[in-house]
Amino acid sequence: YMELDKALDLIADVPDFPEPGVLFRDLSPLFADAGGFKAVTHALADTVDPDADLLAGVEARGFLLAAAVGYSRGLGVVLIRKPGKLPRVAGRVEYTLEYGTATVELPEGIVEAGQRVAVLDDVLATGGTVAATCKLLEDAKAQVTGVSVVMELGALGGRSVLEGRRVEALRVC
Ligand code: 5GP
Repeated sequence: YMELDKALDLIADVPDFPEPGVLFRDLSPLFADAGGFKAVTHALADTVDPDADLLAGVEARGFLLAAAVGYSRGLGVVLIRKPGKLPRVAGRVEYTLEYGTATVELPEGIVEAGQRVAVLDDVLATGGTVAATCKLLEDAKAQVTGVSVVMELGALGGRSVLEGRRVEALRVC
């Protein structure tokens, strides 16, 4: 199938989204390309700790990645959701964005104490979302084995808020 570098080149750079001055990395063309999606799925699957027993996908693009990697690795998926979507909530973590706050929620009765969970998302930017996700899982007494993303925006310093964690990015920009 497609070479990983070629697959990652399908990610489009969109200037001034969601606001002026921000360069948004749009993974839509990558997800839509059969060979590209497969290459990225396999590369991400290789980054998941062999001891992991569950994957956490962050809404919404993290869901696609976690589903594909979960299928590939034979692992189930827990969906880390934005607020107001879950009928039963085990926990929530609020975190700060550049402007305002955001919240992630964990469904009740899914993650067990001691479970080893690998976190998947599309883009690591400031790291706030993934850090909140890790806290949410650890509040539920799970053990986070690592964080895997397709793209890391290095200049935004996400890795520093995840210090001490294993962070794998298929591409760092
Ligand atoms: P952070 O919390 O690390 O600042 O932002 C990461 C979250 O925002 C991720 O869930 C990611 O999907 C989204 N995000 C931030 N910047 C971008 C971007 O340039 N492209 C895409 N696709 N998502 C982004």
